[in-house]
Amino acid sequence: MLLEHLATKLQAIAAKDLTRVLRVAESATAPVQTVRGADGRARELLMFCSNDYLGLAAHPALAEALIAGARRYGAGSGASHLISGHSAAHAALEQAVAEVVSGEIPQAQALFFCTGYMANLAVLTALGDAGAAIFSEELNHASLIDGARLAKAEVQRYAHRDMAQLAALLQASTARIKLIVTDAVFSMDGDLAPLGELLALAERHDAWLIVDDAHGFGVLGPQGRGSLAHFGLRSERLVLVGTLGKAAGVAGAFVAAHPTITQYLLQAARPYIFTTAAPPAVAHALLTSLELMASGEGEQRRANLRQRQAQLREGIANILAAHPSLNWRLAKSDTPVQPLIIGDNAAALALAARLEREGLRVPAIRPPTVPAGTARLRITLCAMHTEAHIQRLLDALAQAAAEASA
Ligand SMILES: *Cc1c(COP(=O)(O)O)cnc(C)c1O
Repeated sequence: MLLEHLATKLQAIAAKDLTRVLRVAESATAPVQTVRGADGRARELLMFCSNDYLGLAAHPALAEALIAGARRYGAGSGASHLISGHSAAHAALEQAVAEVVSGEIPQAQALFFCTGYMANLAVLTALGDAGAAIFSEELNHASLIDGARLAKAEVQRYAHRDMAQLAALLQASTARIKLIVTDAVFSMDGDLAPLGELLALAERHDAWLIVDDAHGFGVLGPQGRGSLAHFGLRSERLVLVGTLGKAAGVAGAFVAAHPTITQYLLQAARPYIFTTAAPPAVAHALLTSLELMASGEGEQRRANLRQRQAQLREGIANILAAHPSLNWRLAKSDTPVQPLIIGDNAAALALAARLEREGLRVPAIRPPTVPAGTARLRITLCAMHTEAHIQRLLDALAQAAAEASA
């Protein structure tokens, strides 16, 4: 019965052209990668889809640090943090993260999590007690949505960047504890949450602001300190979640906040307590990653990234200007997430398939991940993309645009 039930569901997914398939990467994460497709063929593709924004995932210094960490601590942590899995590497990493964000969150302490997904579940379930209210931005990442679902707090949703609606909801709320929850950089749109306005609302309504900076940490702000630093914010009312598998190039995540908050998470956050600590070598490598991010090399990589962003945006603007009858639209984004909105699902899929035939991998994102009628190519950039790489994408898009508008 179960198998038939699932087979029917799989057919329904396939009938809507929504089947997701795995591809196997056979080389390190990089702009040009060898990928084996569902047809079993391996090809070299020019990738515009990873979140490895600084190109650190395959940095030799990080691979070396991982090896050094494994030599010193072995492969596994052996237990959860509170039993015996908390190594000196984990402790050093938490200390280093706390220092990085201390400009934005006074007295910050940090906890390291195996993944950003778990960090978000932890924060929302531990802080979102019965009697609390969670105010959740509508475009938040799935992990925040799931955290809000698991929390005992009541959940209210506000529209994308709608500060007036959020202010009204906060004003009307009688909850004892109010938690505003937002992505800092929206993952499918690349735009930023108005963090300054959100923090001002939090202060006015005695609320707390929980910020998920998965796509900003390492990329934005001085030394890549993230979206809070980008906006020059500083407050005790901030709870910051940063992921370490994207720009930081390794894996895991942190929560940084006032010590009372992190101490409570240590007692109450089930995704921290009831899981085996990540391998100490991962934490050890992340120490090198934080150093690279803050170094001159990190600055150089962020400068490259901004140049490639500008080149891509200018090139696409020219293509759109040359084909005004096309309803394509480039989202307004100052981050390495640069969505080209096509509209129709089939058209977005066809465009992605066409690019892939030419050796370019740019994923098409469709509803329900994005609102109906806004299917898009989600172009993500990496500091290791060259001017020639971007030009190749622009040439392929110009060709496709000319044919689509003919
Ligand atoms: C990727 C992502 C996460 C999850 O982080 P992982 O470390 O990959 O589990 C959380 N929030 C946002 C906004 C993300 O983009």
